[in-house]
Amino acid sequence: MRSKTMEDVARVTRKAQHRSDLLAPAELRPTLWTHELIPISKPSLGSLENSLVLDALQSGWISSKGPYIEQFEEAFAEYCGTRHCIAVANGTVGLHLALAVFGITSGDEVIVPDLTFVATASAVRYTGATPVFADIDPDTWCLDPADIAKKLTKRTKAIIPVHLYGHPAPMREINELAKKNGLIVVEDAAEAHGAEYHGKRVGALGDVGVFSFYGNKIITTGEGGALTTDSDEWAERAKFLRDHAMDRNIRYWHTDVGFNYRMTNIQAAIGVAQLRQIEPFINERREILEHYRRHLRHTHFRLNPETEGMRPVNWMTSVYADSLTRATRDELLAKLHSVGVDSRPFFYPITALPMYEGGPNPVSARVSSGGLNLPTYIGLTGSDIAQVCTSLISAFDS
Ligand SMILES: *Cc1c(COP(=O)(O)O)cnc(C)c1O
Repeated sequence: MRSKTMEDVARVTRKAQHRSDLLAPAELRPTLWTHELIPISKPSLGSLENSLVLDALQSGWISSKGPYIEQFEEAFAEYCGTRHCIAVANGTVGLHLALAVFGITSGDEVIVPDLTFVATASAVRYTGATPVFADIDPDTWCLDPADIAKKLTKRTKAIIPVHLYGHPAPMREINELAKKNGLIVVEDAAEAHGAEYHGKRVGALGDVGVFSFYGNKIITTGEGGALTTDSDEWAERAKFLRDHAMDRNIRYWHTDVGFNYRMTNIQAAIGVAQLRQIEPFINERREILEHYRRHLRHTHFRLNPETEGMRPVNWMTSVYADSLTRATRDELLAKLHSVGVDSRPFFYPITALPMYEGGPNPVSARVSSGGLNLPTYIGLTGSDIAQVCTSLISAFDS
Protein backbone atom coordinates (compact mmCIF):
# COMPACT_ATOMS: atom_id res chain seq x y z
CA MET A 1 0.00 0.00 0.00
CA ARG A 2 1.14 3.49 -0.89
CA SER A 3 2.00 5.62 2.12
CA LYS A 4 -0.01 8.76 2.82
CA THR A 5 1.30 11.97 1.28
CA MET A 6 0.60 15.44 2.58
CA GLU A 7 -1.75 15.85 -0.34
CA ASP A 8 -3.82 12.83 0.78
CA VAL A 9 -4.04 14.22 4.25
CA ALA A 10 -5.15 17.61 2.93
CA ARG A 11 -7.77 15.95 0.72
CA VAL A 12 -9.18 13.87 3.57
CA THR A 13 -9.26 16.94 5.79
CA ARG A 14 -11.11 18.93 3.12
CA LYS A 15 -13.61 16.12 2.73
CA ALA A 16 -14.14 15.89 6.47
CA GLN A 17 -14.54 19.65 6.59
CA HIS A 18 -17.14 19.52 3.86
CA ARG A 19 -19.00 16.70 5.58
CA SER A 20 -18.96 18.48 8.88
CA ASP A 21 -20.41 21.59 7.20
CA LEU A 22 -23.36 19.40 6.28
CA LEU A 23 -23.73 17.63 9.59
CA ALA A 24 -22.49 19.65 12.48
CA PRO A 25 -23.74 22.91 13.91
CA ALA A 26 -21.10 25.62 13.54
CA GLU A 27 -20.11 25.71 17.20
CA LEU A 28 -19.22 22.02 17.10
CA ARG A 29 -16.97 22.22 14.10
CA PRO A 30 -13.55 23.57 15.06
CA THR A 31 -12.46 20.48 17.00
CA LEU A 32 -12.54 18.41 13.83
CA TRP A 33 -9.39 19.79 12.33
CA THR A 34 -7.45 20.14 15.52
CA HIS A 35 -7.99 16.57 16.77
CA GLU A 36 -8.14 13.02 15.52
CA LEU A 37 -11.21 10.96 16.51
CA ILE A 38 -11.09 10.28 20.25
CA PRO A 39 -11.84 6.54 20.40
CA ILE A 40 -14.27 5.01 22.86
CA SER A 41 -11.65 2.58 24.11
CA LYS A 42 -8.18 1.26 23.43
CA PRO A 43 -5.96 -1.26 25.17
CA SER A 44 -2.89 -0.18 27.13
CA LEU A 45 -0.02 -2.39 25.93
CA GLY A 46 3.64 -1.68 26.67
CA SER A 47 7.11 -3.14 26.93
CA LEU A 48 6.15 -5.75 29.55
CA GLU A 49 3.47 -7.22 27.25
CA ASN A 50 5.98 -7.13 24.37
CA SER A 51 8.67 -9.02 26.21
CA LEU A 52 6.41 -11.67 27.75
CA VAL A 53 4.63 -12.36 24.46
CA LEU A 54 7.95 -12.65 22.69
CA ASP A 55 9.15 -15.04 25.39
CA ALA A 56 6.04 -17.22 24.98
CA LEU A 57 6.44 -17.19 21.20
CA GLN A 58 10.14 -18.06 21.24
CA SER A 59 9.61 -20.84 23.77
CA GLY A 60 7.49 -22.71 21.23
CA TRP A 61 4.61 -23.04 23.72
CA ILE A 62 2.07 -21.21 21.61
CA SER A 63 -1.02 -23.35 22.28
CA SER A 64 -2.60 -23.98 25.66
CA LYS A 65 0.30 -25.64 27.45
CA GLY A 66 3.08 -23.48 28.84
CA PRO A 67 4.04 -21.66 31.99
CA TYR A 68 2.07 -18.45 31.48
CA ILE A 69 -1.30 -20.21 31.75
CA GLU A 70 -0.66 -21.39 35.30
CA GLN A 71 1.03 -18.13 36.25
CA PHE A 72 -1.95 -16.18 35.04
CA GLU A 73 -4.48 -18.49 36.70
CA GLU A 74 -2.69 -18.35 40.04
CA ALA A 75 -2.23 -14.60 39.96
CA PHE A 76 -5.83 -13.90 38.92
CA ALA A 77 -7.28 -16.23 41.56
CA GLU A 78 -5.16 -14.47 44.16
CA TYR A 79 -6.26 -11.07 42.88
CA CYS A 80 -9.95 -12.00 43.08
CA GLY A 81 -9.56 -13.74 46.42
CA THR A 82 -10.70 -17.18 45.22
CA ARG A 83 -9.00 -20.57 45.53
CA HIS A 84 -9.18 -21.25 41.79
CA CYS A 85 -9.08 -19.57 38.40
CA ILE A 86 -9.67 -21.42 35.12
CA ALA A 87 -8.51 -19.48 32.06
CA VAL A 88 -10.66 -19.85 28.93
CA ALA A 89 -10.79 -18.64 25.34
CA ASN A 90 -13.21 -15.74 25.94
CA GLY A 91 -15.87 -14.53 28.34
CA THR A 92 -18.80 -15.95 26.39
CA VAL A 93 -17.54 -19.53 26.50
CA GLY A 94 -16.63 -18.87 30.13
CA LEU A 95 -20.30 -18.24 30.89
CA HIS A 96 -21.27 -21.37 28.96
CA LEU A 97 -18.67 -23.44 30.78
CA ALA A 98 -19.86 -22.18 34.17
CA LEU A 99 -23.44 -23.21 33.38
CA ALA A 100 -22.23 -26.57 32.01
CA VAL A 101 -20.35 -27.26 35.26
CA PHE A 102 -23.68 -27.21 37.08
CA GLY A 103 -25.44 -29.30 34.44
CA ILE A 104 -27.85 -26.52 33.43
CA THR A 105 -29.81 -27.94 30.50
CA SER A 106 -33.02 -27.75 28.49
CA GLY A 107 -36.11 -27.38 30.63
CA ASP A 108 -34.19 -25.22 33.11
CA GLU A 109 -34.62 -21.48 33.52
CA VAL A 110 -31.87 -19.00 34.31
CA ILE A 111 -32.54 -15.45 35.51
CA VAL A 112 -30.59 -12.83 33.52
CA PRO A 113 -30.87 -9.03 33.66
CA ASP A 114 -32.68 -7.53 30.67
CA LEU A 115 -29.99 -4.86 30.32
CA THR A 116 -26.67 -6.56 29.58
CA PHE A 117 -24.40 -7.49 26.70
CA VAL A 118 -26.07 -10.22 24.64
CA ALA A 119 -23.48 -12.89 25.54
CA THR A 120 -25.02 -13.33 29.01
CA ALA A 121 -28.21 -14.58 27.36
CA SER A 122 -26.49 -16.47 24.52
CA ALA A 123 -24.60 -18.63 27.03
CA VAL A 124 -27.87 -19.70 28.63
CA ARG A 125 -29.25 -20.64 25.22
CA TYR A 126 -26.15 -22.73 24.39
CA THR A 127 -27.11 -25.07 27.25
CA GLY A 128 -30.66 -25.45 25.95
CA ALA A 129 -32.05 -23.65 29.01
CA THR A 130 -34.33 -20.62 28.81
CA PRO A 131 -33.12 -17.19 29.90
CA VAL A 132 -35.77 -15.34 31.92
CA PHE A 133 -35.22 -11.61 31.92
CA ALA A 134 -35.60 -9.67 35.15
CA ASP A 135 -35.62 -5.89 35.32
CA ILE A 136 -32.81 -3.74 36.68
CA ASP A 137 -32.79 -1.35 39.61
CA PRO A 138 -32.71 2.31 38.50
CA ASP A 139 -30.11 3.11 41.17
CA THR A 140 -27.51 0.44 40.30
CA TRP A 141 -28.43 -0.50 36.69
CA CYS A 142 -28.02 -4.11 37.90
CA LEU A 143 -30.56 -6.89 38.64
CA ASP A 144 -33.42 -5.80 40.89
CA PRO A 145 -33.81 -8.50 43.59
CA ALA A 146 -37.55 -7.74 43.93
CA ASP A 147 -38.08 -8.47 40.24
CA ILE A 148 -35.97 -11.65 40.40
CA ALA A 149 -38.30 -12.90 43.15
CA LYS A 150 -41.29 -12.33 40.85
CA LYS A 151 -39.70 -14.32 38.03
CA LEU A 152 -38.75 -17.47 39.92
CA THR A 153 -40.56 -20.66 38.90
CA LYS A 154 -40.19 -24.35 39.72
CA ARG A 155 -37.78 -24.55 36.79
CA THR A 156 -35.40 -21.78 37.87
CA LYS A 157 -31.92 -23.22 38.44
CA ALA A 158 -29.56 -20.26 38.41
CA ILE A 159 -29.19 -16.48 38.50
CA ILE A 160 -26.58 -14.56 36.49
CA PRO A 161 -26.10 -11.12 38.04
CA VAL A 162 -24.12 -8.80 35.74
CA HIS A 163 -21.93 -6.07 37.26
CA LEU A 164 -22.98 -3.67 34.52
CA TYR A 165 -20.48 -1.01 33.39
CA GLY A 166 -18.32 -1.89 36.42
CA HIS A 167 -20.90 -1.45 39.20
CA PRO A 168 -21.43 -4.51 41.45
CA ALA A 169 -24.89 -6.08 41.52
CA PRO A 170 -26.63 -6.31 44.95
CA MET A 171 -25.04 -9.67 45.76
CA ARG A 172 -26.22 -9.98 49.36
CA GLU A 173 -29.89 -9.96 48.36
CA ILE A 174 -29.23 -12.12 45.31
CA ASN A 175 -27.31 -14.74 47.32
CA GLU A 176 -30.10 -14.80 49.91
CA LEU A 177 -32.72 -15.42 47.25
CA ALA A 178 -30.52 -18.13 45.73
CA LYS A 179 -29.97 -19.85 49.05
CA LYS A 180 -33.66 -19.84 49.90
CA ASN A 181 -34.56 -21.35 46.53
CA GLY A 182 -31.60 -23.69 45.99
CA LEU A 183 -30.19 -21.75 43.02
CA ILE A 184 -26.68 -21.39 41.62
CA VAL A 185 -25.24 -17.87 41.29
CA VAL A 186 -22.88 -17.23 38.35
CA GLU A 187 -21.47 -13.69 38.43
CA ASP A 188 -20.95 -12.11 35.02
CA ALA A 189 -17.99 -9.94 36.03
CA ALA A 190 -16.85 -9.31 32.43
CA GLU A 191 -17.04 -5.53 32.91
CA ALA A 192 -15.92 -5.25 36.52
CA HIS A 193 -12.42 -6.66 37.22
CA GLY A 194 -11.34 -5.44 40.64
CA ALA A 195 -14.71 -3.96 41.68
CA GLU A 196 -15.51 -4.55 45.35
CA TYR A 197 -18.67 -5.28 47.27
CA HIS A 198 -18.43 -4.79 51.03
CA GLY A 199 -14.69 -5.38 50.91
CA LYS A 200 -14.76 -8.48 48.68
CA ARG A 201 -13.81 -8.50 45.02
CA VAL A 202 -16.26 -9.50 42.30
CA GLY A 203 -15.70 -13.05 41.11
CA ALA A 204 -15.62 -14.17 44.75
CA LEU A 205 -19.21 -13.23 45.55
CA GLY A 206 -21.26 -16.03 43.98
CA ASP A 207 -20.67 -19.73 43.28
CA VAL A 208 -18.62 -19.03 40.17
CA GLY A 209 -17.40 -15.75 38.66
CA VAL A 210 -16.84 -15.21 34.94
CA PHE A 211 -14.53 -12.60 33.40
CA SER A 212 -13.72 -11.43 29.89
CA PHE A 213 -10.33 -10.16 28.72
CA TYR A 214 -11.52 -8.78 25.38
CA GLY A 215 -9.51 -5.82 24.06
CA ASN A 216 -11.78 -3.17 25.58
CA LYS A 217 -12.04 -4.66 29.07
CA ILE A 218 -10.19 -3.42 32.21
CA ILE A 219 -7.37 -5.86 31.49
CA THR A 220 -7.05 -7.75 28.23
CA THR A 221 -5.49 -10.85 26.70
CA GLY A 222 -6.73 -9.97 23.18
CA GLU A 223 -9.51 -12.53 23.38
CA GLY A 224 -9.78 -14.40 26.64
CA GLY A 225 -11.77 -15.13 29.74
CA ALA A 226 -11.66 -16.85 33.13
CA LEU A 227 -13.77 -18.60 35.75
CA THR A 228 -13.13 -18.02 39.44
CA THR A 229 -14.39 -20.20 42.28
CA ASP A 230 -13.60 -21.40 45.79
CA SER A 231 -14.87 -24.91 45.11
CA ASP A 232 -12.22 -27.57 44.36
CA GLU A 233 -14.89 -29.79 42.84
CA TRP A 234 -16.31 -27.20 40.43
CA ALA A 235 -12.84 -26.01 39.43
CA GLU A 236 -11.88 -29.59 38.58
CA ARG A 237 -15.10 -30.07 36.61
CA ALA A 238 -14.54 -26.81 34.70
CA LYS A 239 -10.98 -27.81 33.74
CA PHE A 240 -12.20 -31.24 32.65
CA LEU A 241 -14.96 -29.84 30.43
CA ARG A 242 -12.67 -27.09 29.08
CA ASP A 243 -10.28 -29.76 27.79
CA HIS A 244 -12.56 -32.13 25.82
CA ALA A 245 -13.68 -33.93 29.00
CA MET A 246 -10.74 -36.27 28.68
CA ASP A 247 -10.06 -38.72 31.50
CA ARG A 248 -7.15 -37.53 33.69
CA ASN A 249 -5.45 -40.91 33.54
CA ILE A 250 -6.53 -42.53 30.28
CA ARG A 251 -5.53 -40.58 27.20
CA TYR A 252 -8.30 -40.23 24.58
CA TRP A 253 -10.87 -41.67 26.94
CA HIS A 254 -13.75 -39.19 27.20
CA THR A 255 -16.63 -39.62 29.59
CA ASP A 256 -18.64 -36.53 28.61
CA VAL A 257 -19.15 -34.28 25.63
CA GLY A 258 -16.58 -31.62 26.46
CA PHE A 259 -15.33 -28.46 24.80
CA ASN A 260 -12.10 -26.90 23.68
CA TYR A 261 -12.42 -23.62 25.57
CA ARG A 262 -8.73 -23.22 26.40
CA MET A 263 -6.70 -20.03 26.49
CA THR A 264 -3.31 -19.98 24.76
CA ASN A 265 0.03 -19.44 26.47
CA ILE A 266 0.51 -16.31 24.31
CA GLN A 267 -2.76 -14.83 25.55
CA ALA A 268 -1.82 -15.73 29.13
CA ALA A 269 1.53 -13.96 28.68
CA ILE A 270 -0.34 -10.74 27.83
CA GLY A 271 -2.58 -11.41 30.83
CA VAL A 272 0.33 -11.81 33.26
CA ALA A 273 1.72 -8.46 32.10
CA GLN A 274 -1.67 -6.74 32.30
CA LEU A 275 -2.48 -8.12 35.72
CA ARG A 276 0.67 -6.57 37.18
CA GLN A 277 -0.77 -3.16 36.24
CA ILE A 278 -4.40 -3.68 37.17
CA GLU A 279 -4.44 -1.40 40.23
CA PRO A 280 -2.88 1.60 38.41
CA PHE A 281 -5.29 0.94 35.51
CA ILE A 282 -8.29 0.99 37.87
CA ASN A 283 -7.04 4.14 39.60
CA GLU A 284 -6.49 6.00 36.33
CA ARG A 285 -9.97 4.99 35.18
CA ARG A 286 -11.42 6.29 38.44
CA GLU A 287 -9.63 9.63 37.92
CA ILE A 288 -11.06 9.78 34.41
CA LEU A 289 -14.55 9.36 35.84
CA GLU A 290 -13.90 12.08 38.43
CA HIS A 291 -12.83 14.43 35.62
CA TYR A 292 -16.04 13.66 33.74
CA ARG A 293 -18.09 14.22 36.90
CA ARG A 294 -16.52 17.65 37.45
CA HIS A 295 -17.21 18.76 33.89
CA LEU A 296 -20.78 17.46 33.84
CA ARG A 297 -21.89 18.26 37.38
CA HIS A 298 -24.16 21.18 36.44
CA THR A 299 -25.90 19.32 33.62
CA HIS A 300 -28.88 16.99 33.29
CA PHE A 301 -26.58 14.00 33.00
CA ARG A 302 -26.31 11.36 35.63
CA LEU A 303 -23.05 9.41 35.56
CA ASN A 304 -22.05 5.88 36.67
CA PRO A 305 -23.98 4.82 39.78
CA GLU A 306 -22.24 4.82 43.14
CA THR A 307 -23.64 2.82 46.01
CA GLU A 308 -22.77 2.73 49.71
CA GLY A 309 -20.41 -0.14 50.55
CA MET A 310 -19.34 -0.73 46.97
CA ARG A 311 -16.22 0.16 45.03
CA PRO A 312 -17.28 0.16 41.38
CA VAL A 313 -14.67 0.30 38.62
CA ASN A 314 -15.00 2.63 35.67
CA TRP A 315 -15.09 0.19 32.79
CA MET A 316 -16.92 2.71 30.61
CA THR A 317 -17.89 6.19 31.62
CA SER A 318 -21.67 6.14 31.33
CA VAL A 319 -24.02 9.08 31.15
CA TYR A 320 -27.76 8.97 31.32
CA ALA A 321 -30.47 11.63 31.01
CA ASP A 322 -34.16 11.18 31.72
CA SER A 323 -35.04 13.61 28.96
CA LEU A 324 -33.32 11.59 26.21
CA THR A 325 -35.40 9.36 23.96
CA ARG A 326 -33.80 6.63 21.86
CA ALA A 327 -34.00 8.98 18.84
CA THR A 328 -32.49 12.05 20.53
CA ARG A 329 -29.83 9.88 22.19
CA ASP A 330 -28.86 8.47 18.80
CA GLU A 331 -28.69 12.02 17.38
CA LEU A 332 -26.35 12.89 20.20
CA LEU A 333 -24.06 9.97 19.25
CA ALA A 334 -24.02 11.16 15.64
CA LYS A 335 -23.26 14.76 16.61
CA LEU A 336 -20.41 13.62 18.84
CA HIS A 337 -18.97 11.54 16.03
CA SER A 338 -19.14 14.49 13.64
CA VAL A 339 -16.91 16.50 15.97
CA GLY A 340 -14.39 13.72 16.47
CA VAL A 341 -15.69 11.97 19.58
CA ASP A 342 -16.51 8.28 19.50
CA SER A 343 -19.27 7.10 21.85
CA ARG A 344 -21.61 4.13 22.25
CA PRO A 345 -25.29 3.68 23.01
CA PHE A 346 -26.23 1.58 26.05
CA PHE A 347 -27.13 -2.01 25.18
CA TYR A 348 -30.62 -2.73 23.86
CA PRO A 349 -32.74 -4.64 26.36
CA ILE A 350 -32.22 -8.29 25.41
CA THR A 351 -36.00 -8.76 25.28
CA ALA A 352 -36.08 -6.25 22.40
CA LEU A 353 -33.98 -8.63 20.26
CA PRO A 354 -35.83 -10.94 17.86
CA MET A 355 -34.56 -14.24 19.30
CA TYR A 356 -35.59 -13.63 22.89
CA GLU A 357 -38.92 -13.55 24.70
CA GLY A 358 -40.10 -11.69 27.76
CA GLY A 359 -40.34 -8.09 28.81
CA PRO A 360 -40.83 -5.32 28.34
CA ASN A 361 -39.04 -4.49 31.57
CA PRO A 362 -39.71 -0.78 32.07
CA VAL A 363 -36.52 0.25 33.89
CA SER A 364 -34.27 -1.65 31.47
CA ALA A 365 -36.11 -0.08 28.52
CA ARG A 366 -35.82 3.43 29.95
CA VAL A 367 -32.15 3.24 30.94
CA SER A 368 -31.27 1.61 27.61
CA SER A 369 -32.84 4.48 25.63
CA GLY A 370 -31.37 7.34 27.61
CA GLY A 371 -27.79 6.20 28.13
CA LEU A 372 -24.48 6.42 26.34
CA ASN A 373 -20.84 5.54 27.00
CA LEU A 374 -18.01 8.04 26.59
CA PRO A 375 -14.32 7.49 25.82
CA THR A 376 -12.56 5.71 28.71
CA TYR A 377 -9.04 4.35 28.39
CA ILE A 378 -5.57 4.59 29.87
CA GLY A 379 -3.90 7.68 28.40
CA LEU A 380 -7.08 9.72 27.87
CA THR A 381 -6.03 13.22 28.90
CA GLY A 382 -7.76 15.92 30.90
CA SER A 383 -8.02 18.06 27.79
CA ASP A 384 -9.55 15.15 25.84
CA ILE A 385 -12.16 14.82 28.58
CA ALA A 386 -12.81 18.57 28.54
CA GLN A 387 -13.31 18.40 24.78
CA VAL A 388 -15.67 15.41 25.03
CA CYS A 389 -17.74 17.20 27.69
CA THR A 390 -17.89 20.52 25.84
CA SER A 391 -19.00 18.64 22.73
CA LEU A 392 -21.56 16.63 24.68
CA ILE A 393 -23.06 19.70 26.35
CA SER A 394 -23.33 21.72 23.15
CA ALA A 395 -24.72 18.73 21.23
CA PHE A 396 -27.28 18.18 23.97
CA ASP A 397 -28.31 21.82 23.99
CA SER A 398 -28.51 22.20 20.20
C1 LIG B 1 -17.68 -8.53 27.18
C2 LIG B 1 -18.81 -9.20 27.86
C3 LIG B 1 -19.03 -10.58 27.76
C4 LIG B 1 -18.37 -11.46 26.75
O1 LIG B 1 -17.02 -11.53 26.75
P1 LIG B 1 -16.21 -11.96 25.44
O2 LIG B 1 -14.84 -12.17 26.00
O3 LIG B 1 -16.28 -10.82 24.49
O4 LIG B 1 -16.80 -13.20 24.91
C5 LIG B 1 -20.02 -11.14 28.53
N1 LIG B 1 -20.79 -10.41 29.34
C6 LIG B 1 -20.63 -9.08 29.45
C7 LIG B 1 -21.52 -8.32 30.37
C8 LIG B 1 -19.65 -8.43 28.69
O5 LIG B 1 -19.54 -7.10 28.75
